[in-house]
Amino acid sequence: MAYAVTAVKNSRKYKVDIDLLRKLCLVPTDVLWELLGVTEHPRMYFEDRGSNILCVAHVDCYGLPHSFRYVKRPDKPSIIMSPQLDDRLGVYTVLHALYHLGMDILLTDDEEAALSTAACFTPPRRYNWVVEFDRRGHDAVTYQYYVPELREYFDIGAGTYSDIVDMEHLGVACFNVGIGFHKEHTAECYMNHKEWSRQMEAFEQFFDDYKDVALEFEEKCRCQLISSSLLEMWMEEIGETPTCPYCGLEMNVSG
Ligand SMILES: [Zn+2]
Ligand SMILES: [Zn+2]
Repeated sequence: MAYAVTAVKNSRKYKVDIDLLRKLCLVPTDVLWELLGVTEHPRMYFEDRGSNILCVAHVDCYGLPHSFRYVKRPDKPSIIMSPQLDDRLGVYTVLHALYHLGMDILLTDDEEAALSTAACFTPPRRYNWVVEFDRRGHDAVTYQYYVPELREYFDIGAGTYSDIVDMEHLGVACFNVGIGFHKEHTAECYMNHKEWSRQMEAFEQFFDDYKDVALEFEEKCRCQLISSSLLEMWMEEIGETPTCPYCGLEMNVSG
């Protein structure tokens, strides 16, 4: 039986459906692929909804025993703890929380081995841009892509790897949005609901503003992809915007 994909029907938008997230975190990876109807390697799940935007998350998990705890804390917001929030919270985000936006959906495998099956994905059309939801905290990262349009919506950080690093062949801008999990790859991995909700709202705003805008993949000198905190530190030290010794341009924050 195929996995039933439905938008969460909450009266309040962007509230986590805890039972659904629990199921997604506890299901073993092989079983989830079966539920998604995916039996062949390289494993990926694609849902073509006729959209010009593609969203991405990964199904595989870092190798820790599956667990899920909803922790109530006196005088503090409750938290969800699960090592599988990376990236089952991303899977939940694309299959449920943001389903109403109508984006095409790609779920991948082997991201944790830094060999994402996204490299084998053949797009049915040219997308305007690609968004991934596989990131701690509340910034956004762009890796080798250059997406200055994001700066108004998210803090821009620096990242090392996720599926979209292997999606250059799509020829468009890709970026990865933080979904409020923390301490991933440890048994203490948890999520901050408020952070997640805020990121959903910020993303929906970006989506409304840019869904019809084609953001091309432009190859930039690495100096244009520096994290804002690093650039600020350098600017404080030398009192001006540093110039790149390779390309001669003023350095710029990533995004
Ligand atoms: Zn991940
Ligand atoms: Zn990971």
